[in-house]
Amino acid sequence: MNDSDRVCEGSIEVLSGTMFGGKTKELIRRLIEAETHGKRVQAFKHKMDGRYHFSQLTSHDGFAYRAEAVRTSAELLSLVYSDTNVVGIDEGQFFDPELPSIVTTMADRGIRVVIATLDLDYLRRSFGCAPELLALATTVVKCRATCAECNRRGVSRLADFSRRTVHATGTNVVGGAESYEPLCRACYLNANDETVLNTNPPLASSPPASA
Ligand SMILES: [Zn+2]
Repeated sequence: MNDSDRVCEGSIEVLSGTMFGGKTKELIRRLIEAETHGKRVQAFKHKMDGRYHFSQLTSHDGFAYRAEAVRTSAELLSLVYSDTNVVGIDEGQFFDPELPSIVTTMADRGIRVVIATLDLDYLRRSFGCAPELLALATTVVKCRATCAECNRRGVSRLADFSRRTVHATGTNVVGGAESYEPLCRACYLNANDETVLNTNPPLASSPPASA
């Protein structure tokens, strides 16, 4: 085949956003849809994430899909069959720094890779290899939850960030609704007013309007 005739069907789809934004549910939906269309699908999760079930991807609202749990992205790659069309990866933020290059390897082989990953940690710092995955992505969807605090006041507003509601240090504290809540920017700032607002430098005054 002439090089100019080469077609590669591989792609990288990243489902990102806050906790409880429906990333895993959307991942499962895409995998089931691909399977319905006759594609061979494999799904993986990191062994660190044992919240619900090791052999399943499970969304917070109970949707499930069979999966293999692995410790490293190299192990993940070694388990992908030669005739697999679609690879789903949940909780991409927990994986080692090799994940982006391994995802690229799979896409170059013609595999459609769909990855759910948190983009930011509870302090709004980029999480693991999420920035590189977002940069490599063919498509990106930001999955956003409803702000929990606004919801308590009867207001419907989309969340921007995940706030940790329990006292713990370290970025990789795996948890669900008992440990994290999604908040909009205003509620996040209110909840963290001592640690965030007081350390922000004041904005510059705008120049006087010219006559
Ligand atoms: Zn809010």
